[in-house]
Amino acid sequence: MQRETDDLTPNKAATTWHRVLVIGGGNAGLSVAGRLRRQGVNDVAVVEPRKQHQYQPLFSHVAGGTARSRLAIRPQASVMPRGVAWIRDRVVDVRPDSDSVLLASGRELGYEHLVVCPGIQKDWDRVPGLPEAMASPSGASNYEFGLATKASRLLRDLKRGTVIFTQPAGPASCAGAAQKPMYLACDYWRAIGVLDDIRVVLVVPDPTIFGMSLIDQELDRKIAEYGVELRSGSELVAVDAAARTAVIGRPDGHRESLTYDVLHAVPPQSAPDWVKQTLLPATGDPGGFVEVDPETLRHPRFPNVWALGDAAATRNSKSGGALRKQTLVLATNLSQVLAGKPVATRYDGYSVCPFTVSRSTVVFAEFDEHYQPKPTIPFWPGLARERRLAWVFDRHILPWVYWHLILKGRA
Ligand SMILES: Cc1cc2nc3c(=O)[nH]c(=O)nc-3n(C[C@H](O)[C@H](O)[C@H](O)COP(=O)(O)OP(=O)(O)OC[C@H]3O[C@@H](n4cnc5c(N)ncnc54)[C@H](O)[C@@H]3O)c2cc1C
Repeated sequence: MQRETDDLTPNKAATTWHRVLVIGGGNAGLSVAGRLRRQGVNDVAVVEPRKQHQYQPLFSHVAGGTARSRLAIRPQASVMPRGVAWIRDRVVDVRPDSDSVLLASGRELGYEHLVVCPGIQKDWDRVPGLPEAMASPSGASNYEFGLATKASRLLRDLKRGTVIFTQPAGPASCAGAAQKPMYLACDYWRAIGVLDDIRVVLVVPDPTIFGMSLIDQELDRKIAEYGVELRSGSELVAVDAAARTAVIGRPDGHRESLTYDVLHAVPPQSAPDWVKQTLLPATGDPGGFVEVDPETLRHPRFPNVWALGDAAATRNSKSGGALRKQTLVLATNLSQVLAGKPVATRYDGYSVCPFTVSRSTVVFAEFDEHYQPKPTIPFWPGLARERRLAWVFDRHILPWVYWHLILKGRA
């Protein structure tokens, strides 16, 4: 187990300095820190406030009833890569002009290189009534741990009525994940014989269900099979939690009011507010994400600042699958620069979204930043079809790979 190097007591110690300081000990931060250590970089420290590390892809399985919630979290201390220091605190400001960051405790940390990866912010407040709806007995979401366990109960216990699943417009962490609990629940309702008594409405922001024809065909086939009503080019614009009514809107001004028994919603997302206040985003980026060269993952204005994962303004769809490539590129380039050499590798925009279309099959979407197919096995689009093999990979193999290899910087 890794020992913590600090706690949250205010103004406790003097300014310290690290060769590489990583903001955020999530998927990106731990994986890149582990890779840097394995490449021989000394004095790598990660600032991470949480005591529990979350494996978010499993939240969809938790919400859909195909994984127990305890499988999705582990103590942060148990997943820190060997030789990496954990500073249990929260960054509140980055000062790239003085190579330092300010922590919530009041301490200041200096760095030679900074890696910024604090993840994405869920902007629940941007939809009027949505926070109240999530706090009510009928609201749930796979995007928060507590709401995912609540979703599991609500979807399991429902035997008739209306369920609305919503996916937000704009940048999101693994955008398609908003749909996954829906397919799992439909398969379950069909198995217990109540699917015909449940009206299922899916709200997606794009003109088609995903935006890639190969995948759209598979998902359209599944929603027809389950009898799901699709509202494409639409989003959730308001909720009245007391009346259990959701307003679905389109850009042309069309509005539809639907009464629900369960609302499974995913909020709009953007960079954390404190990141937006720093010098790190590009002027005019509405999401406020950290500006980087999308291929080298290096900041164009501050060459000793790097960013990756959900908080970075890369062009790809944000996902853990994208990070498997990004962490290698960033760690290799940063090691090169520390050795006085030019950056060596480039990220190719690869991303992935495994759609759990039933309780035993997955459609594995692999694509580039233009939503063109980018299969891991070249010229074989087979994983983009509904497959049991992909389910075994997504539900059973990948979680093991995450805990044992990805977080240690080995994959
Ligand atoms: C419901 C759901 C399902 C998903 N399913 C999939 C999937 O099936 N496949 C896939 O590839 N991807 C999936 N993803 C996406 C994947 O989980 C993310 O892309 C990935 O976790 C991003 O890693 P990250 O390190 O950038 O952010 P995170 O993993 O969110 O980590 C960010 C870390 O930064 C910390 N932090 C925040 N603020 C601060 C601060 N101020 N100071 C210090 N630390 C801070 C946080 O506590 C957190 O630990 C899913 C995401 C969700 C939400």
